[in-house]
Amino acid sequence: MFSLRQISKTYQGHPALDAIDLAIAPGQTTVLIGPSGCGKSTLLRLLIGLIAPDAGELCFDGQPLLATTLRDQRLRMGYVIQQGGLFPHLTARANVILMAGQLGWSDRRISDRLETLRRLTHFPADGLERYPSELSGGQNQRVALMRALMLDPEVLLLDEPLGALDPMIRFELQQDLKAVFETLGKTVVLVTHDLAEAAFLGEIIVLMRAGRILQLGTLAEMIAAPADPFVEQFIRAQRSHHIAEALT
Ligand code: ADP
Repeated sequence: MFSLRQISKTYQGHPALDAIDLAIAPGQTTVLIGPSGCGKSTLLRLLIGLIAPDAGELCFDGQPLLATTLRDQRLRMGYVIQQGGLFPHLTARANVILMAGQLGWSDRRISDRLETLRRLTHFPADGLERYPSELSGGQNQRVALMRALMLDPEVLLLDEPLGALDPMIRFELQQDLKAVFETLGKTVVLVTHDLAEAAFLGEIIVLMRAGRILQLGTLAEMIAAPADPFVEQFIRAQRSHHIAEALT
């Protein structure tokens, strides 16, 4: 669905992405993981065309992202960010249906689609008339997910969608997200810094460090055959982090 060849992006002389080669298969969930600052969000923003690479080739469904085609290409991708990115002055309903309204969908088509998504994301019907400030963090992320899915995009890109949620809500949403991914069978690319979340949600894990991909595969493969000493370190650090959390 996406192919990246020798993609680089530099900020103020520091490479955020350093000659990345990556193919993202359709219909699968790919998780980008790695320590803070390793380039995960930059990679996701490149995929959706919010930023352009300094070098390399990036194709979406075989086509480069060009200024002239980007609008149509973006309509084929849904995007969710950590804090939801909802418009605060719009109700949940208005946030979700905004683009469909602009594209001239009929009221009937909009309300049918909204109801399908509301059920899919387990969002309460009376929540649709509330503003983001009147909803919990978890509910806002369900709204953001509905908004991203409204136009039935082929691709869903999620940047730490559960990062700001407390552990119980996060756990609940992890289960629901996984069910949504399985139901829809879309191409999903998700950023997280949590290895347990990556292993739970992702079919393919891409472990990054300092703008490079160190290893791509399943967690079991990374544990059995780490491609780099850092892979082992990262897995060990995450495990002890979880154990430390469990003991507190
Ligand atoms: P991650 O998502 O893995 O935490 P990012 O992709 O956000 O990492 O950032 C990668 C690197 O690029 C970091 O060093 C970050 O400081 C830098 N960076 C990202 N966006 C910008 C920006 N708009 N301006 C300057 N530096 C940036």
